[in-house]
Amino acid sequence: MEHDAYQQIEHLRDELRRHEYLYYVLDQPEITDAEYDAMMRSLQVLEQQHPELDSPDSPTHRVGGAPREGFVKLRHSSPMLSLDNALNEAELREFDRRVREGLNGESFQYTAELKMDGLSMAAQFEQGRMVRAITRGDGEVGEDVTENARTIRSLPLRVKDALARFEVRGEVMMNLAAFNHLNAQRDREGLPRYANPRNSAAGSLRILEPKITSRRKLDYYVYFLLVNGEQVEHSQKAALEHLARMGFHVEGHHQTCRDIEELAAFCLHWEQNRDSLPFQIDGVVAKVDSIGQQQRLGWTAKAPRWAIAFKFPPRQAETLVEAIEVQVGRTGALTPVAHLKPVPVGGVIVSRATLHNEDEVQRLGVQAGDTVIIERSGDVIPKVVRVKSPGARRTPFRMPKHCPVCGGEIVRQEGEAASRCINTDCPARLKESILHFAAREVMDIEGMGEALVDQLVDRGLVKNVAGIYGLTLDDLLKLERMGEKSARKILDNIERSRKRPLARILNGLGIPFVGERTAQLLAEAFGSLDAIAQADREELQRAEEVGPKVSASIYEFFRETHNRQLVERLRAAGLQFTFAHANTRGTALRDLTFVLTGTLPTLTREEAKQRIEAAGGKVSGSVSRKTNYVVAGEQAGSKLDKARELGIDIIDEVRLLEMIP
Ligand SMILES: [Zn+2]
Repeated sequence: MEHDAYQQIEHLRDELRRHEYLYYVLDQPEITDAEYDAMMRSLQVLEQQHPELDSPDSPTHRVGGAPREGFVKLRHSSPMLSLDNALNEAELREFDRRVREGLNGESFQYTAELKMDGLSMAAQFEQGRMVRAITRGDGEVGEDVTENARTIRSLPLRVKDALARFEVRGEVMMNLAAFNHLNAQRDREGLPRYANPRNSAAGSLRILEPKITSRRKLDYYVYFLLVNGEQVEHSQKAALEHLARMGFHVEGHHQTCRDIEELAAFCLHWEQNRDSLPFQIDGVVAKVDSIGQQQRLGWTAKAPRWAIAFKFPPRQAETLVEAIEVQVGRTGALTPVAHLKPVPVGGVIVSRATLHNEDEVQRLGVQAGDTVIIERSGDVIPKVVRVKSPGARRTPFRMPKHCPVCGGEIVRQEGEAASRCINTDCPARLKESILHFAAREVMDIEGMGEALVDQLVDRGLVKNVAGIYGLTLDDLLKLERMGEKSARKILDNIERSRKRPLARILNGLGIPFVGERTAQLLAEAFGSLDAIAQADREELQRAEEVGPKVSASIYEFFRETHNRQLVERLRAAGLQFTFAHANTRGTALRDLTFVLTGTLPTLTREEAKQRIEAAGGKVSGSVSRKTNYVVAGEQAGSKLDKARELGIDIIDEVRLLEMIP
């Protein structure tokens, strides 16, 4: 029995590791997220039943263990020194001249790699297991972030390789999609944004609660392979190839350059094309490829003589601040925005830059009429870096006392960076509130986009969020560029949203500090919207992850007259005010397993999956004898052949939708 459990656990671990590698390193998943989650849950259950078989390299540790008090300092196996910088091509050529001189005319080549803008970290392995992860720190001593590093899915916790003990070094990063997602979530929860992906990666790795790190979608790209602090391969290129074979994430654009001309061309190419990458880079790292030659060149006191970091010039520009105006967001938060004399920055014309909040305006000392330096990076909103020269005629910025959109009162609460318009019917808030309510991850009302919401609010057709449930076909047909077909479709989508679960409604209300996750926890803990609305601060704090700040925010929200009216209107619209447990899901497709393949005519893969699961069915990533139906769309591939081979029913989208009530 014990032996069986051991084998089962080891098998699940191996499978999960393989799928993590396929998903996070190769970006070629073979199974759906739901199947992965199910496999992970089976393993968790088995490990709970057999605690003696737990192991720190088990994929279950990816979700993060107990919080901790602080980080222990650890010494690196050999110093993690930083590289010298070349700030322009002349400095790059000067580096090349020194290398050629140092090698006495021997032939050599460079390996050029993209310089990721992240946080350097070393990960140590013993007998193939990741045992320690240390941040760069001051280069000699860093912080032990082992538990948090375990949650980074692209860092293998177990490696099959001939090397018994080794260390890898690389960069912990957050790609731009994850970064923007995180900031959008922080906006919704009323938390300050991260300034750039580097800060968010560093912040996320050093959070004392590994569970939070686990949700932050960090990535780890490696570029050094060391044994006892020494490089082991004969060249950098061979080391990168070895690391990739071991299953580590190695950035794939590295290139061998035979001379400085090729190296300079590589740097120029990526300086111009960096926006095409899914992550932020701030330069190129060039290393003399041969480790033997690296050793002959040696080190200065501060940095290796065989490597250089070519830094891209920051994409900055100088321009005039014509005015500072405030924008009103969904939560009523006022954001000062600098309206600029349009200026090209790295190939894009910039005419606005965010100033975040009142404190930031004070810190920069910026006023309308000033000449400022602005900076743009990736697809992050441009920002003002500093005042270059104060204008002759300046207008100091003052946060308005009344909302520029509705004239309502502006309040800045103690300890908060943001000033807010407190009128919940403020049109600026209303448009944003409807967009948030209708968003995919909230009530998922397709077609309820910016253009439509602008018209609905401007024409007075919708006066509060619940108003969308009162829209008629006639209302919609009055709007610009709205045909009957699309109007009906939107009404259908609104209709369907009445069935969304309680957690989504809670998230949709836009209560400050209550995002997707908190909403879910509240729904589970209280069971109904009324119970949450009636709870006092103390009762609210009994829900998981709800502290004094969040509970106060929820409590005040439901004590405000307009908000209470909104809740009643939503109730009248027939929304789901009670928490539906999974077992109250539909039963039409109970015990049926579906496989989706090809492009369906109207549903996305995710939508089809949600529909099937909502009706009690299961969706699997691969066809087997257990599959009941294969739903095939255009360009269906090998799954269709497999289904034919096994004699499984093949249906189209129309048939699928007929099966779902
Ligand atoms: Zn307002």
